[in-house]
Amino acid sequence: MPRALITGITGQDGLYLAELLLAKGYRVFGLIRGQNNPKRELVRRTVPGAELLTGDLTDLSSLLRAMEAAQPDEVYNLGAISFVAYSWENAMLTTDVTGTGVLNILEAVRLYSHDDPRKVRFYQASSSEMFGKVQEVPQRESTLLWPRSPYGVAKVFGHYMTINYRESYGMHASSGILFNHESPRRGPEFVTRKVTRAVARIELGLQDEIVMGNLDAKRDWGFAGDYVDAMWRMLQQDEGDDYVIATGQTHSIGELLDVAFAAVGIDDWSRHVRQDPAFMRPADLLIGDPSKARDVLGWEPTVGFSELITMMVASDLEEQRAQAGA
Ligand code: NDP
Repeated sequence: MPRALITGITGQDGLYLAELLLAKGYRVFGLIRGQNNPKRELVRRTVPGAELLTGDLTDLSSLLRAMEAAQPDEVYNLGAISFVAYSWENAMLTTDVTGTGVLNILEAVRLYSHDDPRKVRFYQASSSEMFGKVQEVPQRESTLLWPRSPYGVAKVFGHYMTINYRESYGMHASSGILFNHESPRRGPEFVTRKVTRAVARIELGLQDEIVMGNLDAKRDWGFAGDYVDAMWRMLQQDEGDDYVIATGQTHSIGELLDVAFAAVGIDDWSRHVRQDPAFMRPADLLIGDPSKARDVLGWEPTVGFSELITMMVASDLEEQRAQAGA
């Protein structure tokens, strides 16, 4: 039975990945931080088969202990401070967790595997935010990185450390440069979920409007369930490598509003949406070229944009109804 250790198991991707690996017959260990993490129960409920270990990416000794306890064949490093806006307000914390944390887990893997550098396969959750001020459209594995936030800079550090551990120590280490991926489990601070939750609340008469930034900003959005499958495929290759994971299609925030409101039967959403300059972000055209992942990993996205957003609105309606009834 293969064994996997997942950091960030309480997050969107951690839960989907744990489900995927358990279904494949893995023994799954998840790292949970904090003395009394409120998401521990969510993980227990969602993936009861996963075994939980305490640790923090900023604490190397806790990572070494987790490695010894889990004895993993594969390590998926999904833990991070992951919200760009928050990373501006907490730049040093973001650097410690999202950047230096990668070095800590790579060191834990290296020290644990001292007798054989290829004993453990490692996945690093890199991000399209590393492209920032884009130098090429669409972005591919070789595109020059130009991050535009503390989050993006920290991810670039983790990305190059992963490549360096692969090249210098001969580790089986891969970096997935993932474009935005969403689901009903997406944190409510991210724009897709902010919209789908607000639309559900508007439909139920619980709020009137959403405050948004630029409506013409475009993103390449996929479904998180598809993207964790790409992570697993990377670690099944003979060698570690870097892969862009994306749909290769963009949609604007305006289209996101169109689909989300249409899901509750509202065609003209103008009276429900107010724009505020405080929410405006640089309109970089982030769009990925996933051809390497398609050719080498045999990976393709299976859930389209409209289906994804409609799924999220349906889930938020259910959640909001349950909360309103409680
Ligand atoms: P989430 O924000 O949903 O989850 C982040 C996870 O990191 C949580 O489990 C959180 O735990 C954990 N974490 C935070 N701080 C620490 C710490 N100090 N030590 C250990 N764990 C910590 O992110 P996603 O699931 O959406 O994303 C997974 C990874 O992929 C992240 O690294 C993200 O940056 C990256 N990524 C995501 C993309 C996306 O579109 N979703 C796109 C590209 C990359 P807790 O619950 O305790 O806070």
